[in-house]
Amino acid sequence: MTDRFATARKRMVQEQLLHRGIDDQNILTAMSEVPRHLFVCDAMQAQAYGDYPLPIDGDQTISQPYIVAAMTQALKIKGTEKVLEIGTGSGYQAAILSRICDKVYTVERINTLLAGARKIFDQLRYHNILAKLDDGTLGWPEHAPYDAIIVTASGPEIPEPLIEQLADPGRMVIPVGDRDVQQLQLLTKKDGDITIRHLESVRFVSLIGEHGWNG
Ligand code: SAH
Repeated sequence: MTDRFATARKRMVQEQLLHRGIDDQNILTAMSEVPRHLFVCDAMQAQAYGDYPLPIDGDQTISQPYIVAAMTQALKIKGTEKVLEIGTGSGYQAAILSRICDKVYTVERINTLLAGARKIFDQLRYHNILAKLDDGTLGWPEHAPYDAIIVTASGPEIPEPLIEQLADPGRMVIPVGDRDVQQLQLLTKKDGDITIRHLESVRFVSLIGEHGWNG
């Protein structure tokens, strides 16, 4: 895509992703093409490609580009997968996923965010994303199992329904911890066994719902 941010986007990929070990070519291509500035408000477009998270509506945040890339890379997506995202927010993470897998299901609990994200998906013709308003800690049972699950808000523990709805084999990334600081966890399911590995420390907004925080 060529637009006035094409150079900023290329620089973001070079300086923030390649230099920090993101080497999945499909992710690098997706992030150099998806217009991240459309996922933030007009006043913040010039900062959309900076090396930091940005505020979006409802006191929520769009993650730093590197975190989006690192979480996506941890899922080891090849192209044919069905992926579930909890926490649509701006829609940017779902947009990146939609470029590298077959189908994305994404759940958001705040209506204005969901509506905004849907509008951009339509505008960009990202037709393989299905989004709904709900408590994502319950997953989206109708379309389970999912080859990969990504949770972009942090709870006190990994919600049980998400573990159940993960395919075997399957991979899930989720920040888990207290309200202030969390550990990114990678859960893998293989031959009926669950393994959990701790990745880096992160700060995410709270996952609020039946299997998350109370409010
Ligand atoms: N992936 C988003 C990041 C959004 S921040 C992006 O690319 O912009 C996390 C989002 O999780 C917020 O929008 C918040 O409203 C949402 N969230 C928190 N708890 C949730 C729940 N139980 N179900 C669905 N969404 C939830």
